[in-house]
Amino acid sequence: MVARRTAVAVVGAGPAGLTVANLLRRAGIECVLLEAQSRAFIEQRPRAGFIEEWAVRGLERRGLGEQLVAKAPQHEKFEFRFAGRRHVFRYGDVTGQRHFVYPQQLLVTDLIGQYTGSGGEAVFEVSDVELHDLTSDSPAVTFRADGEDHRIDCDFVAGCDGARGVCQGYLPAESTVKAHHDYGIGWLALLAEAPPSADGVLFGIHPRGFAAHMARTRKVTRFYLQTAPGETEADWSDERVWRELHARLTVPGGEIIEGRLFEKRILDMHNYVVEPMSHGRLHLAGESAHLVAPIAAKGMNLALHDAFLLTDAVQAHYAGDPAPLAGYSAACLPLVWQYQEFSLWLSDIFHHTAAAGENPFAARIAEARMRRLLGSPAAAAAFAELYIGKNADF
Ligand SMILES: Cc1cc2nc3c(=O)[nH]c(=O)nc-3n(C[C@H](O)[C@H](O)[C@H](O)COP(=O)(O)OP(=O)(O)OC[C@H]3O[C@@H](n4cnc5c(N)ncnc54)[C@H](O)[C@@H]3O)c2cc1C
Repeated sequence: MVARRTAVAVVGAGPAGLTVANLLRRAGIECVLLEAQSRAFIEQRPRAGFIEEWAVRGLERRGLGEQLVAKAPQHEKFEFRFAGRRHVFRYGDVTGQRHFVYPQQLLVTDLIGQYTGSGGEAVFEVSDVELHDLTSDSPAVTFRADGEDHRIDCDFVAGCDGARGVCQGYLPAESTVKAHHDYGIGWLALLAEAPPSADGVLFGIHPRGFAAHMARTRKVTRFYLQTAPGETEADWSDERVWRELHARLTVPGGEIIEGRLFEKRILDMHNYVVEPMSHGRLHLAGESAHLVAPIAAKGMNLALHDAFLLTDAVQAHYAGDPAPLAGYSAACLPLVWQYQEFSLWLSDIFHHTAAAGENPFAARIAEARMRRLLGSPAAAAAFAELYIGKNADF
């Protein structure tokens, strides 16, 4: 058994864990970062792309956003496409804020480079991760790496190992609430070697089902297609994918550009939140604590929000103030629930036409919301603020 001690053991090298690890190092607090996958794998794993301006500025202010700000294109409008028409929504005009479009794997690559480049210790391809003594002053993490058993004793464990990690399982069932919502549909997430078909996001609201277009780079575009429950990737040939994307997203003068499809993945559309996000010396951050289906592109933004709050709180602890860490979960959850509520609201708008046959009442309600959103400047302003997320100087 290889044993050692550090201040914080950070489990998981996604956006949450990498941000926590970098910020702890910058604050002079020792940590070790543990990741189940190889470095090469996580530097190429495509997922998110849209980062809200407050989160970008939060990274920038903390010295972690330089590459992102230099390279990421900025978006400040999107289009609803339905009933053969386009409705452009300029949320940047209303809020003065925009999205930065930066593929998640580029942010992860930047953050790993900054962390290891400054001497940060990361162990990749760990397995059998277990947490111990979480309610004592000296918890520990054990794991296997390079064919050996390891033990790290520490002051705190940052559980940043995502929706499929182990840390969430250490919250005691009797004092934890896991609130869950299932949308009852799937989304087929696609990546195509195709330039953007428009200079913003497209949301296609169509009786055949929802579809979306989100540019990632000048050569790569993400598309989504709503799928029926139980459908798998095998049900979606390339030919069917393009037929449906054209049908659901094209309007006169607004064609969809095709390209080689290199990712085709059915996403289970569900959300959850665990409360509280802490147990003893374990503090969860990001998707280990809350999952929000990518309907409103909120998940990575929430992971960064948690990471900022957690590192501020750990710093305060070492400066002699235990209150922020004791209040960490309560500080995170209002934004988590705000984003969950908005995703649910937006889901009703996105999916209502496809469900009109089985639930005409819900469909008419969604149509009424759409009319108000597109017809009332006050409703549009409220929507825009939620769409671009938190406005506070973070
Ligand atoms: C198709 C798609 C598109 C998306 N688009 C957006 C978007 O535009 N904007 C947005 O804000 N969000 C978006 N999201 C959500 C976003 O990708 C996630 O919210 C984000 O990755 C969460 O970060 P995280 O650090 O909490 O978890 P993760 O990124 O999942 O990182 C967790 C890490 O922990 C590792 N791990 C797991 N188990 C262990 C273990 N036992 N030990 C050690 N390590 C472990 C994993 O390998 C992983 O590297 C999208 C998601 C998908 C799937």
